Amino acid sequence: MSNNDNEYGQETDEDENGEIHCPFCKTTDSCDHLLLMVDLTFRHAEGGLLYDAFNARWSKIVETADDPDFDEKEPFDDLLQEVDSLADSELSSSQDEIPGMSSSYNYYFCSSKKKSMLALKAFVS
Ligand SMILES: [Zn+2]
Repeated sequence: MSNNDNEYGQETDEDENGEIHCPFCKTTDSCDHLLLMVDLTFRHAEGGLLYDAFNARWSKIVETADDPDFDEKEPFDDLLQEVDSLADSELSSSQDEIPGMSSSYNYYFCSSKKKSMLALKAFVS
């Protein structure tokens, strides 16, 4: 038996500086492999190749939902699932800019620029 409990209670893929490295080229900047960086707390894409397409699809989902009890969680998870199925790698991070107010981020990567472009094509079609 090993103790897998993280002392911070949440497992993330950040380095010691709180930065996420691309699993394919190791950069901390955005690169051709980054498919999507998404803020899970505020349900908003923050970067990556799918950034515009993701936010466009998500705002359409929110706009067309006229149910006052509309629960954003499920359709958002569905959309993320679709990105996940197109990506080759997924990383997560958690940032505490204000104490007690942390945002969780997911990062999706493709192993090559070509695969990223194909993923974009599949996502918008
Ligand atoms: Zn990269």
